[in-house]
Amino acid sequence: MIKRRFAYQAPSTLDEVLAALAEHGADAEVVGGGTWVVPEMTHGARMPAHVVDLRNAGLAGVTESNGGLSIGAMTTYAELANDSRVVERAGSLGTMAAGITGGAQVRYQGTVGGSACYATPSSDAPGALVGLDATMNLRSASNSRAVAASDFFKGAFEADLADGEVLESITLPAPMAGARFGHYKLKLVESSWPIATATCVVGVDGEGKITAARLAVGGVNTKPYVVDTSSIVGGPIDGGAAAAVVEAARSSATDPYSDVLASGEYRQQVSGVVAKRALLAAA
Ligand SMILES: Cc1cc2nc3c(=O)[nH]c(=O)nc-3n(C[C@H](O)[C@H](O)[C@H](O)COP(=O)(O)OP(=O)(O)OC[C@H]3O[C@@H](n4cnc5c(N)ncnc54)[C@H](O)[C@@H]3O)c2cc1C
Repeated sequence: MIKRRFAYQAPSTLDEVLAALAEHGADAEVVGGGTWVVPEMTHGARMPAHVVDLRNAGLAGVTESNGGLSIGAMTTYAELANDSRVVERAGSLGTMAAGITGGAQVRYQGTVGGSACYATPSSDAPGALVGLDATMNLRSASNSRAVAASDFFKGAFEADLADGEVLESITLPAPMAGARFGHYKLKLVESSWPIATATCVVGVDGEGKITAARLAVGGVNTKPYVVDTSSIVGGPIDGGAAAAVVEAARSSATDPYSDVLASGEYRQQVSGVVAKRALLAAA
């Protein structure tokens, strides 16, 4: 039960959402799917005077955009996992969404935008978005701006999101020619949160050679990071490429995150393995 009274509104347009946030400032809390915010309000960790719910503001859904995709911030994991365009053009995001634990309730209620804005280091979505070179589209009552996902995640529980700002949508670029996608997450048991994740997209030509690659590791550092894949371009996806990404992923694990699931040292150790498995999943 939430013990403190609060005013609640669920505006039917984004403009009304933004006006409400501008009016109430730091006293207002945005609610997406509510799977994080509502439990925190129940525990008394957050006690907003005004709750602005995004559910009616038209921010859910996937549309095609310049050969890529535009994903509304309120799109749920279930919608992502079941959308054939996501599977075809951003397969690692679909795999990520299908693999969220917490059961049907979290997959049908939790949103990709809520996960991004909360910026939990061990969440699945931030690393997947960085791996796909996503752009985060932000709006406030007075401004709109677009930020690369790799800049949006600033640290543990810290996103580039100002007071009064809302994540409206996420844009994914058109996939590279011959794109193959891989997503891998390491977790303790089937129902637990990830310890480390990796998301990979590789372009492969008719001879099986890598023409371009982008690989990101999540959960290891306090924010997702992009692994240098330049040394594998031009060659096949083989043991040599796998060994190269192991080394590159480990060498960039310089700001490791610790929590109850794993120490930073352990996360550093496994960063190379998850990167390799994402590459092999793409192959
Ligand atoms: C039992 C359980 C298991 C889980 N397992 C996993 C797992 O395996 N992997 C994983 O990655 N995650 C997991 N999660 C976390 C889940 O992914 C998040 O709770 C969910 O994605 C958050 O989305 P939401 O829409 O419910 O966010 P909310 O709870 O509504 O909001 C989260 C934060 O983001 C802000 N916010 C939300 N939407 C916006 C927006 N559009 N613009 C600006 N700010 C916004 C809110 O103000 C709040 O600060 C689990 C959660 C539960 C409860």
